[in-house]
Amino acid sequence: MATRDDAAPAPRHPVRLVVAGVDTFVGSDLCARCPQGEAGCCAAPPGVEWSDVGRVVLRGGRDFLIGEIAAGRLRPGPRGLNIARVEAPSGAKDARRCVYHGPAGCTIPPDRRAATCNHYLCDDGFAAGGEGEGDRTAARARRALDSLVARHGAWDRAIADEVRARWPGGPPWDGAFLDALGEALAGRIAAHGRARRA
Ligand code: SF4
Repeated sequence: MATRDDAAPAPRHPVRLVVAGVDTFVGSDLCARCPQGEAGCCAAPPGVEWSDVGRVVLRGGRDFLIGEIAAGRLRPGPRGLNIARVEAPSGAKDARRCVYHGPAGCTIPPDRRAATCNHYLCDDGFAAGGEGEGDRTAARARRALDSLVARHGAWDRAIADEVRARWPGGPPWDGAFLDALGEALAGRIAAHGRARRA
């Protein structure tokens, strides 16, 4: 299958794209040599918001979350969970970074990360991947990113309303609550699928 317009030059750093709904992955080998610092985006990890927590639960990670909260690597916040940051090794360009960032990159699997960790690529990555020069994979990845950002944003707002209504004093962050977040996301994914087929 062609991934470029016939006239498009080969990108210096092709965008990698695996389309898989909320598990969609977008990446580039440019990330491993990010000019912003060796941790790249992982110097400032995204929030693990309500829909992200639900996704991890749906992928079998409920006990992982409970363990990480107990260990303090994930901290409850007003929009879900916040990933702790730790001091970078001495000599590193960035002062602090995500607690899950290791010498070879992320140390947790994609199904335990915030969805943003899997589908975000910066503008430099898209440019090096041929966006604007006719590269079809870069264009598809951009559409996937925009769509996922919009979808997760809407889901997060709706699930936040549910959390406030059901747990006005704040959620308990126990297994039952995590399961409820998984169910809340599953319902929305199913509704999205029905709407696309209609
Ligand atoms: S969870 Fe992994 S991919 Fe996400 S910010 Fe942390 S190290 Fe980076």
